[in-house]
Amino acid sequence: MNFNIALIRGDGIGPEVTNESVKLIHKVGETFGHSFTFNEKLAGGAAIDAFGVALPAETLAACKASDAVLLGAVGGLKWDTLPGDQRPETALLGLRKELALYANIRPAILMSELLAACPLRPELVGGGLDLVIVRELTGGIYFGDKGTVTDDDAGVSAYDVERYSEAEVRRIGIIAFDMARKRRGRLTSVDKANVLESSRLWRRVVTELAANYPDVALNHMYVDNAAMQLVRNPGQFDVIVTNNIFGDILSDEASMITGSIGMLPSASLTGGNFGMYEPIHGSAPDIAGKGLANPIASILSAAMMFRYTFGLAKEADAVERAVKHVIGQGFRTPDMAGNESVKIVSTSELGELVTAAVGQ
Ligand code: NAD
Repeated sequence: MNFNIALIRGDGIGPEVTNESVKLIHKVGETFGHSFTFNEKLAGGAAIDAFGVALPAETLAACKASDAVLLGAVGGLKWDTLPGDQRPETALLGLRKELALYANIRPAILMSELLAACPLRPELVGGGLDLVIVRELTGGIYFGDKGTVTDDDAGVSAYDVERYSEAEVRRIGIIAFDMARKRRGRLTSVDKANVLESSRLWRRVVTELAANYPDVALNHMYVDNAAMQLVRNPGQFDVIVTNNIFGDILSDEASMITGSIGMLPSASLTGGNFGMYEPIHGSAPDIAGKGLANPIASILSAAMMFRYTFGLAKEADAVERAVKHVIGQGFRTPDMAGNESVKIVSTSELGELVTAAVGQ
């Protein structure tokens, strides 16, 4: 069977890590008898340089016409002085909104082989870590009304509005409950209902949904407590569901517990099969072009694409096994070195090792 993938390599380390997942996807095709066709397009800083806009219409059209989108990362110092509405990152918000990708799935798994790279004491993570953050992606403060007003006394004030509808909370809540049901049956809804009206609505709607999921144990947690619990006792979490901004922050925190932000993949879904797959990290301008970037987040994003969009579960398992195998052999990019004696390899060397391990 042939699958069509819109490929956006992006900026900084985006092209370096994406190269590795493209190699791996072709290897999966050869091993399991599928073909994957890539339609390569620009977005972010590279598109600003070529076309003057972060998200060209042609890129958006190619994404809409494909089965899935694979993205590296966008942004960089070169474009940091542009006004907010013209920066590379607007391409991400545009893609999420235009493709209706409202559910962002971010697994955080600490492999036992990477315990030494985890900044928490072993007794805090000894029981392992395997959680999923389900982040609402097309609503809330990132998409709400924003602007500035000038007042004679106070000078300029700026505002960003956090706003959620019942329908928006319900659809992301359903994704999270369904996921918890397929995992260990525990769902933590994170909000700030002691202060925010939008969070009180969030909590009410999630609580109402719980009646349909008697097999899922729901608890609510304030975001400040959740940030603390993630480093105090991360093993207590199974699935976390939260709004756009809290999910953005908590998933970066969770990523550090797994050893490196370079390990964490993500899927952004529509509720149907279509999805956009990307590492949770950014374009890492500090290490771009040096062969230092960890390609595993991108490779595991490809595994999520096999599982969620293409329905290729055994291919996804094979990729995840290959990653574990290579890490088990002691190969690391510098970000996940920890304090063990490990074999440090470059981005492409690690990618090739994982690709070679697929199907072995
Ligand atoms: P970042 O994730 O790019 O980097 C944070 C730190 O993690 C850096 O020290 C970096 O070297 C390291 N890091 C990130 N990915 C790594 C990898 N695969 N391997 C090894 N180390 C890795 O975040 P930032 O520095 O805040 O942002 C840099 C640029 O990326 C900015 O322009 C930002 O707007 C953009 N950004 C883009 C996305 C995206 O495209 N989805 C997400 C976040 C940030």
